[in-house]
Amino acid sequence: MSHFTPDFVIQYAGLRVRFGAGMRNRIAEEVERLGHARALVLSTPEQADAARHVAETLGPRSAGVFAGAVMHTPVAVTQTALAHAETVGADCLVAIGGGSTIGLGKAIALRSGLDQIVVPTTYAGSEATPILGQTENGIKTTLIDPATQPEIVLYDPELVATLPVPLTVSSALNAMAHAAEGLYAQNRNPLSSLMAEEGLRAFADALERVVANPGDLDARSETLYGAWLCGTVLGQVGMALHHKLCHTLGGSFDLPHAQTHAVILPHAIGFNAGAAADELAVVGAIFGDDHPGRALYRFAERIGAPLSLRALGLAEADLDRAAEIATAKPYWNPRPVTRADIRALLQAAWEGRAPA
Ligand code: NAD
Repeated sequence: MSHFTPDFVIQYAGLRVRFGAGMRNRIAEEVERLGHARALVLSTPEQADAARHVAETLGPRSAGVFAGAVMHTPVAVTQTALAHAETVGADCLVAIGGGSTIGLGKAIALRSGLDQIVVPTTYAGSEATPILGQTENGIKTTLIDPATQPEIVLYDPELVATLPVPLTVSSALNAMAHAAEGLYAQNRNPLSSLMAEEGLRAFADALERVVANPGDLDARSETLYGAWLCGTVLGQVGMALHHKLCHTLGGSFDLPHAQTHAVILPHAIGFNAGAAADELAVVGAIFGDDHPGRALYRFAERIGAPLSLRALGLAEADLDRAAEIATAKPYWNPRPVTRADIRALLQAAWEGRAPA
């Protein structure tokens, strides 16, 4: 079955994407291409060395490093970074890291209009979207604004090769979740479905090779290719139950982002399998099981992903409240959502059972 749909809208921002080993050493070319002279390099404290390396390769085009990015993009950190960017006279940003660092770059760009060059080191996919989640006074809100979309993305498999295997598998399932939910999105289009399918296939082909040999650059490249495709799907179409549940568990119970996606994905897709049978058939075909939720669960098991919310530290007593929060406001999902259904789904995910 082709992915043709009779009505669709596709809109692309001006985006340049480059792939290749060693790409992190070619950032100066891209700064020059944008016509800029002073790039501020952003990272988390943990990746400050990688950021300093980038700043060195930029030479006179470097405005130094701000290594203060943290998870969930707190507005206070953005304001500090913004003031720093002004003080050092930065005229563009280079974000090297995962979704936390990329989120900081987007938050600065939103407020300053500075161009962004992003060098992703996880599979989360934020670089491919105009979406920004920010936290203020303990509340995370999400906005969609073209001003947050990075101008240039440079994928370097040598950088992602340092991602520890446990984070690698969780981050990959985080990416795959964008594609899996993109397949049944209400506003999907033929290209988003093609990209979702190809993104899932890239992870199916290469992720087990990465787990067996984390330094395998060919396999790392193919997984990064998958991350780009899956992230692009996230940027183009709406998400549903899976992302809602992960947002609830991350936002209200402080569960870790990528690992939560890894645990929930087989359950959310299993829940929607009957209502979106045609759209999800490709998931079963790619991962080798007629039931798409079970196919993803077995894949997660094979690559050593976390399988239970219990293992992530969620208390069983919190499941009622999680189900209540996740169903408090109505949202579209291929299968209508009731609180009792979601409570049962969360119970299975908490115990780490295979989806029914
Ligand atoms: P992260 O950016 O928080 O990274 C986790 C940790 O791993 C950090 O300490 C980081 O420095 C380290 N790390 C990253 N890459 C590494 C590497 N190659 N080697 C060694 N260490 C490395 O994790 P994430 O899962 O990429 O991002 C999560 C955040 O991104 C969340 O806040 C989430 O909401 C956001 N996100 C946003 C979007 C979007 O479109 N807006 C999409 C996906 C995720």
